[in-house]
Amino acid sequence: MDSIKIRGARVHNLKNISVEIPRDKFVVITGVSGSGKSSLAFDTIYAEGQRRYMESLSSYARQFLGLPDKPDVELIEGLSPAIAINQKTTNNNPRSTVGTVTEIYDYLRLLFARIGKPHCPKCGKPVKSQSVDQILAQILKLDDGTKFLLLAPIVNQKKGTHKDVLEKLSAAGFVRVKVDGKICDLGEKISLAKTKKHSIELVVDRLIVRDGIRSRLADSLETALKFGEGIAFVETDAAILTFSEKNACVDCGISLPDITPQLFSFNSPKGACPKCNGLGKIFDVRDWSTMFEWMAAVHDFKTTDLPEDVCPACHGHRLNPEALSVRVGNLNIAQVVDMSVDACKKFFSTLELDDTDKKIAAQVLKEINSRLQFLCDVGLDYLTLSRKSATLSGGESQRIRLATQIGSALTGVLYVLDEPSIGLHQHDNQKLLATLKNLRDLGNTLIVVEHDEETIRAADHIVDIGRGAGKSGGEVIAQGIADEISRVEKSLTGDYLSGRKKILVPLTRRQSEQTLTFTDANKNNLKNISVTLPLNALTLITGVSGSGKSTLVEEIIYPRLRETDLTTFGISKVTMIDQDPIGRTPRSNIATYTGVADHIRKLFAATNGAKIRGYKAGRFSFNVKGGRCESCGGNGVLKIPMNFLPDVYVTCDVCKGARFNAETLEVKYKDKNISDVLNMPVDEALEFFANVPTIKRMLQVLHDVGLGYIELGQSANTFSGGEAQRVKLAYELARPLGRAANIYIMDEPTTGLHFDDVKKLIDVIQRLVNRGDTVIIIEHNLDVIKCADYIIDLGPDGGSRGGEIVACGTPEDVANVAKSYTGQALKKILF
Ligand code: ADP
Ligand code: ADP
Ligand code: ZN
Repeated sequence: MDSIKIRGARVHNLKNISVEIPRDKFVVITGVSGSGKSSLAFDTIYAEGQRRYMESLSSYARQFLGLPDKPDVELIEGLSPAIAINQKTTNNNPRSTVGTVTEIYDYLRLLFARIGKPHCPKCGKPVKSQSVDQILAQILKLDDGTKFLLLAPIVNQKKGTHKDVLEKLSAAGFVRVKVDGKICDLGEKISLAKTKKHSIELVVDRLIVRDGIRSRLADSLETALKFGEGIAFVETDAAILTFSEKNACVDCGISLPDITPQLFSFNSPKGACPKCNGLGKIFDVRDWSTMFEWMAAVHDFKTTDLPEDVCPACHGHRLNPEALSVRVGNLNIAQVVDMSVDACKKFFSTLELDDTDKKIAAQVLKEINSRLQFLCDVGLDYLTLSRKSATLSGGESQRIRLATQIGSALTGVLYVLDEPSIGLHQHDNQKLLATLKNLRDLGNTLIVVEHDEETIRAADHIVDIGRGAGKSGGEVIAQGIADEISRVEKSLTGDYLSGRKKILVPLTRRQSEQTLTFTDANKNNLKNISVTLPLNALTLITGVSGSGKSTLVEEIIYPRLRETDLTTFGISKVTMIDQDPIGRTPRSNIATYTGVADHIRKLFAATNGAKIRGYKAGRFSFNVKGGRCESCGGNGVLKIPMNFLPDVYVTCDVCKGARFNAETLEVKYKDKNISDVLNMPVDEALEFFANVPTIKRMLQVLHDVGLGYIELGQSANTFSGGEAQRVKLAYELARPLGRAANIYIMDEPTTGLHFDDVKKLIDVIQRLVNRGDTVIIIEHNLDVIKCADYIIDLGPDGGSRGGEIVACGTPEDVANVAKSYTGQALKKILF
């Protein structure tokens, strides 16, 4: 089979479509937001792949996993095992780090266990181990005739009378001990001060070096090592020699445990710092509110941003002192994982090893190096291996999983990806594309939902869904390579690829009269920079991934703006507009979120029908008892739990999905009942309520931001991140401004947006600025960047090589700064 054949797909808005997707190719699915791309890629193709995989498992396994719903599709042929790499699944396990998820940490543990050089955790001197034969040979090398005592250390500087120890030695048949440096007879009474520290060595043998002592010495040495727990002293007139069979510091008397890979695991009791249990932080459990956080951390259910203290025992390194005393190339494992991926790569490529170690480590180093390289290939060279997964952005964790997949070298897999270019600067895009092609060349099929022009142009095959969104979408508009899509007049993607439509560069840039300055910005990688922010303007924060954009905005600008009294600038509030869901229950929708629902209910309550029956506005809400259908509680559907099978939803047979009871539905406003109204898409409602200014105003803005296809009653939990964000924008835009203006902050608002959606988004943002608001945006999309009034470009690179201002000013100014990657990209499109 050289293709995946899909027939009769009807998931969500898909209009019974049939598509053929070539296998072992890099396939991009495009289309405007809400056109049905995810419905095809994730909810149809991936869901079916997943379901078939589950079906192939034993019924025993299935009862734990549950069987997912069969997607509404007639037939899919040529499917292989599918892996989805999307941005939503973030890892909240506090023990999970970049090192552990990429498996690099597992290889490092192996490396440290095999060739690591132990040092004394107390004094730092190298610690060696010798075999009995090696020790024997060293003693026999002493000058002929040398007299010596063979001693075994029993007590090392410990308080007490040590009566039981001495009795035991006597019972074992020994005659002499050395107590605090003096030889004593075990047959006599030895009384030691209980409150003082003492040292006791057992005298195992007295010998003179000469031919013929070898076998007696060997016996005695074994005895000494047994009683000395691996350590023996040889005392001559001139010196005391110490020998250790295990990894022990002969000076401090500390012996190290066996050096195994588990010793380096902060998830194992063998390796974890005993004080913090391997978390690196401690939580003050005397305070009950942090108690919960502590339990959450220990039981891996959630991480938080609450203050935690770095563990004083391990200083956040998570491992016990023994583990941290083992070094490779003079660094311990914690120091290695605290370096950036880039620095780590350099460290291992210049690591000098002796021939034996080189041989032992060759395979492990190969695995480590290739994985580090994959991380560089997806533009993450600035991350440290110790970075907690929970602190990564969606795009970063997606790209890590991508890098991990290449490392796993699977073939014949179908990968389904969701906008892998998110969070990535133009500068790093080529590397990502090379990685995707690499995955394809290993013999895999890639289906990528993407809007980035470079990615679209690089695809082997494009499936363009549209033409519009929601009910106006759900069809395959064009297929082929970029040039073929360009020629299809009906395709919106084609419009932009061909240049029939484009996002225009504004003719002028706004000049601000007022500015705000933020000095001493030095969180994360920021190098104590000062930034100036123009008010009543559109400011873009740009720079490669890891350059410090989010840090600047989320940890400096936003909190400081919130602390500042902005009323003197005529500003009333600062708002972040993110892509988080606008409601988590199926009961919220755009009507309830925007307040339109209230107005609609009042309209219904004011009709004659309602007045005759005595119905108040609340009667027209499906969230409260009264007017809703009580059989389904206003849900319109009933959930039927099926135990080992997936839950089944059936339309409520009482209200037939209308969500209200028959009496309520008899009340009509302009011939429509409340249920009809909730089923209307925004655009239809806009005409229907044309004479009601309060409702029309809100709906008009929803239409303007490109959400005309969303039904008023559609559950908010079905919205994509981009849709949710635009609902929030529309809500802000529709609010009467009053006297004071607002500051809005957005992080990559183009996520999930097609060229045509981006155009609408820019229009909305410009409208906000035109009416007096200030907008600050973190963005990589050049179509947005070129529309800025002012750009703050961070870099030059990621991590420690970033955090500085590389350029700032208008897009034209930045385009003229040669060392700015953003400038280089702007130069190509502006001049
Ligand atoms: P895209 O990925 O192209 O942005 P989607 O496939 O997510 O679009 O959505 C296509 C349409 O289906 C949109 O109108 C969206 O609101 C709707 N939709 C998405 N998920 C659901 C769902 N779980 N239930 C009902 N409608 C949905
Ligand atoms: P950008 O938004 O430009 O991609 P960030 O501000 O997210 O960059 O990151 C800048 C630097 O700070 C990077 O080196 C990143 O790894 C580091 N960093 C960001 N967040 C954290 C965090 N929570 N803990 C430790 N380091 C962080
Ligand atoms: Zn600790």
